[in-house]
Amino acid sequence: MRPLLGEEEAAAVAEVVRSGWVAQGPRVAEFEGRFAERVQAADAVAVSSCTTGLHLALHVLGVGPGDEVVVPSFSFIATANAVRYCGATPVFADVDPTTGNVTGATVKAVLTPATKAVIVVHQGGVPADVAEVRASIGDVPVVEDAACAAGSTLHGAPVGAGVHLAAWSFHPRKLITTGEGGMVTTDDPELGARLRRLREHGMSMSAAQRHAAKGPVLEDYLETGFNYRMTDIQAAMGLVQLGRLDGIVERRRELAARYHELLAEVPGVRAVTDPAHGTTNYQSFWVLLGDGMPERNAVLAGLAEAGVSARRGIMAAHLEPAYAGDGAPELPVTEHLTARSLILPVHHDLTEDEQQHVVRSLAVAVRA
Ligand SMILES: *Cc1c(COP(=O)(O)O)cnc(C)c1O
Repeated sequence: MRPLLGEEEAAAVAEVVRSGWVAQGPRVAEFEGRFAERVQAADAVAVSSCTTGLHLALHVLGVGPGDEVVVPSFSFIATANAVRYCGATPVFADVDPTTGNVTGATVKAVLTPATKAVIVVHQGGVPADVAEVRASIGDVPVVEDAACAAGSTLHGAPVGAGVHLAAWSFHPRKLITTGEGGMVTTDDPELGARLRRLREHGMSMSAAQRHAAKGPVLEDYLETGFNYRMTDIQAAMGLVQLGRLDGIVERRRELAARYHELLAEVPGVRAVTDPAHGTTNYQSFWVLLGDGMPERNAVLAGLAEAGVSARRGIMAAHLEPAYAGDGAPELPVTEHLTARSLILPVHHDLTEDEQQHVVRSLAVAVRA
């Protein structure tokens, strides 16, 4: 992965520095409005990361000690960690072998009377069929971890459209970046107002609002909040990046189509693709090694030797020391996918020759 950054981002950041207002202010408000519009959400609240966004989303659902929250283990570890921040217990659900996402059946299998919420992850940009999950879990609230999914679509609409609570990431590993940063989107403006307060110490009015007031204005602290703010420096960069999103998705889908063509010549290797219910932004282009092929790490080593920077596939949180003490849930699909998948290089400026070299090197490494 290589972020797509240009002189426009540098100029936008410089302008904020020259303005003298570098903390959360007008650029953050503008970025929130533009992001909400892009993903068809009623409101968007900028935060310091997707991880802190997930924490706030669970917090406003009232998740606390004694509660269980169902999450996929097959995700970046922040998904499970956010549950622990609330003092609650993450309960791991298995995933579908084709999409890498939870389904109604895998979530339902681990629901208990203590389940307070479910986090559905759009893993690697592949949209999860949230409506299908909802149909199996009654009225248990869902939070969408859309860290990877800006520009993906679900049932013909952008991921995020009309969603109650979704958290997004602008880490440089994602399609658009603010260095670090995140967003929570919601369909409920009142919830948006509370999220806005919680990210800023529970203050009744923001520092920017007080600054803009004519006379002296005193703020109240209405509940225990957090400092999860984004800065105007980051938001200025985010505004430029958001303008690039459609072009970035188009380019990645072009690169993915080319990988699919080339990989047709490497039998036994299966690559991630669009599910029936939507389109992926191909944030991660992962491939699954066939039975009888060498160990994943050996394939990664072979690729590295050929000068190809591939990575292990999506991790499984329940196999990490931080979660190992929680008992060993049966997650056969997760364990197979994480052990047998790897992520191929994709970035905006990847050339046809480079893609050919990647796939040729993979073909050699899987035969070794
Ligand atoms: C990247 C990622 C996160 C964490 O995002 P940050 O903005 O780095 O906190 C959470 N969930 C998933 C699925 C991710 O890929």
